[in-house]
Amino acid sequence: MEIKPLHIEGIEITRPLVLAGPCSAESEEQVLETARQLAANGIKIYRAGIWKPRTKPGGFEGVGSEGLRWLKMVKEETGMLTATEVANARHTEEALKEGVDILWIGARTSANPFAVQEIAEALQGVDMPVLVKNPVNPDLDLWIGAAERLMACGVSRVAAVHRGFGAYEKGLFRNQPQWHIPIELKRRLPSLTILCDPSHIGGRQDLIYPISQQAMDLGFDGLMVETHINPEVALSDKDQQITPDTLKRILSILVIRDRSESSEFLNELRRDIDEADDRLLNLLSQRMSIAREIGRYKMEHNMPVLQPLRYDKMVTTRLAQAMGLELDEEFVKLMLEAIHEESVRQQFEVFNKIALSKKEKS
Ligand code: PEP
Ligand code: MN
Repeated sequence: MEIKPLHIEGIEITRPLVLAGPCSAESEEQVLETARQLAANGIKIYRAGIWKPRTKPGGFEGVGSEGLRWLKMVKEETGMLTATEVANARHTEEALKEGVDILWIGARTSANPFAVQEIAEALQGVDMPVLVKNPVNPDLDLWIGAAERLMACGVSRVAAVHRGFGAYEKGLFRNQPQWHIPIELKRRLPSLTILCDPSHIGGRQDLIYPISQQAMDLGFDGLMVETHINPEVALSDKDQQITPDTLKRILSILVIRDRSESSEFLNELRRDIDEADDRLLNLLSQRMSIAREIGRYKMEHNMPVLQPLRYDKMVTTRLAQAMGLELDEEFVKLMLEAIHEESVRQQFEVFNKIALSKKEKS
């Protein structure tokens, strides 16, 4: 089945398409008041988690089915469309029965093909938008596989949500953005609508704006942002939820750049880049051929492939050179390591070939 840009009845999809609402539905009042404020700020799609996947037991695990009734009230009162997370067939059936408009599959669930399959089967014959969050682990095929399972059951309106990837080491982000993964997703499936969830990537209120701006600059289609009337007392993810008014302010300052892919000037610069890449590749090829030549010499003179002093000298002089060329030191170091590793591999190949042919001759 062919992937098409997301289509949602009654919503004109302009960038950014925004879904906002609390991490969790907590009470009728919190759900409705958040919705009222969001609707007053022009938000058209309301999100709220009813069944919450929590890392440890004993935390707030969502209000369950009761929350579906509150979502219905949101829809009736504000006219917003509603979205919730489903993690199994039962959730899916209940959400469908209660008229939820859009479903999303959470990061823990999209990592589990059994769960995705049962959700997909529960959606057989139902035409509604389903958003697939990236799996917690950075596995692009698993992410695409989840979308494919849905499409194979006839769900034609799928979109992806980038919410960052889990890492053992905690850094600035709650979940590492690893932007190259959604970028590769876009390269492989150019028509797929991709949203960004800055709340789960950042894990902090002050990161929502810069991550959202970065997502827009990378050409994402929209944002899913956790929004709560009173984040301080939120029962889940309180550090990353913002108020409807903060969201409004962020949306008003986001710079949405034109996504058109080319202009005469850009084309010219791209020709220059293509030429530079061409020279780079030819140079690399030359460099590897010299490395193989060195390999042959070392083999014939019974010298080891790796000569640490020489390697250290090479890295030091090249890094000093890089400083004068406005190249980032860390980048140059990584690049040199990769080039050196490949040279060593090529030299080993030469060693093995020569050793093999000597053996064959003897
Ligand atoms: C959520 O959106 O509230 C949520 C649980 O997200 P994720 O699956 O990305 O952790
Ligand atoms: Mn959350």
